[in-house]
Amino acid sequence: MNTLPTVLLRPGEADRVLAGHPWVYAGAILRLTTPAADGDLVQVKDHRQRFLGVGFFNAKSKIHVRLLASERIEVDRRFFEQRLRAALAVRQRHLPGATSFRAVNAEADFLSGLIVDKYEDVLVVQTSALGMDQRKPMIFAALQEVFAPRAIVERNEMASRKFEGLPDANGVVAGEFSGRQPIRLNGLAFEADLLGGQKTGYYLDQQVNYRLVAECVPKLERAQVLDGFCFQGGFGLHAARAGAAHVHFLDQSEETIATAKRLAGANGLAGQCSFEAVNVFDWLKAQTTVAPNEKVVPRFDLIVLDPPSFTRSRAAVPDALRGYKEIHLRALKLLKPGGVLATFCCSHHVDARLFQEVILAAAFDARRVLRRVATYAQSPDHPVLPAIPETEYLKGFAFEVAR
Ligand code: SAH
Repeated sequence: MNTLPTVLLRPGEADRVLAGHPWVYAGAILRLTTPAADGDLVQVKDHRQRFLGVGFFNAKSKIHVRLLASERIEVDRRFFEQRLRAALAVRQRHLPGATSFRAVNAEADFLSGLIVDKYEDVLVVQTSALGMDQRKPMIFAALQEVFAPRAIVERNEMASRKFEGLPDANGVVAGEFSGRQPIRLNGLAFEADLLGGQKTGYYLDQQVNYRLVAECVPKLERAQVLDGFCFQGGFGLHAARAGAAHVHFLDQSEETIATAKRLAGANGLAGQCSFEAVNVFDWLKAQTTVAPNEKVVPRFDLIVLDPPSFTRSRAAVPDALRGYKEIHLRALKLLKPGGVLATFCCSHHVDARLFQEVILAAAFDARRVLRRVATYAQSPDHPVLPAIPETEYLKGFAFEVAR
């Protein structure tokens, strides 16, 4: 182990690592004692030569070292098996009974650069760091050992791979799989498009929130529900099952809306549901545009807004905030008194405080006073480690129209 190349940090750079953050940026490094190839395991020490941990080196990435452990470990198949089992135990503890979930979420599971989603008996793997990518055979073998899946699919076409000097790579790497994978979330049927869909095939991070938001439904009488940015209709179908009188689903993708419609049928909920393939911004605008002396007639008891991240970068934040404000203003106009707005923001660059400020600004313009009745976070298979702020991204609120 002492033969590992050593990365020495500049004075003052060790604290972040000691606090549990696994990234070492180029600027934090004083020098490398012996040359290391990209993807190699290195040891990291502070400027006084005190050992901090081991991790993968990559001079091509802005993140020069991704730390894996604070002890001197071997990175072999056994290491991956142990980390996978530890991650699985977190899911079993916090999402008992779930059969589809994110089994490994990178930094949040001490495996920077590795994501594994479990869709029933099929696993989907993403490696966004060179060190992980080079060890795929070892990782796949460890996954076989821990999960015994029917198939393993690789979905490696993320923009982040380019920063690591990695090419795209997609397809079935073990077992047999084609088409779509039926999955169950909280007892409802959905499907993951593992080879061609969004992300790794489904948005798994709302699994718990589907249930929590649906808990509002019995409190509202004969609830009229709107599911905006619905994807396969996760929120709306849970609301329908909870007894909503009617749910209207909106998504701009025709294909997605067709899937949501099919799933409403498969779940025996079609009678309460209607669907529209449309841009939510346009739809809300059309529904809330009235003549100067007319008023918008509020007609919904629950509106769910779960848009994609409008901000890829910090520079895009002002535009994103305008977008968030507009949809909230219009949604609030469509909510009956006592109605609930359940709203989510998955942008890293807009935190909960800023997100709530935007909603309040919209409420001010709509002349509504809101009562906050719930706060939401990403499901626990996307663990939040406050020592690593990047692990936290999804926040949500439920507001009742108090006045
Ligand atoms: N609520 C969903 C996830 C939503 S992801 C769930 O829980 O599974 C965001 C969705 O918004 C995607 O399906 C995307 O097709 C859709 N979308 C993005 N921009 C849109 C827009 N302007 N109008 C309508 N739908 C949009």
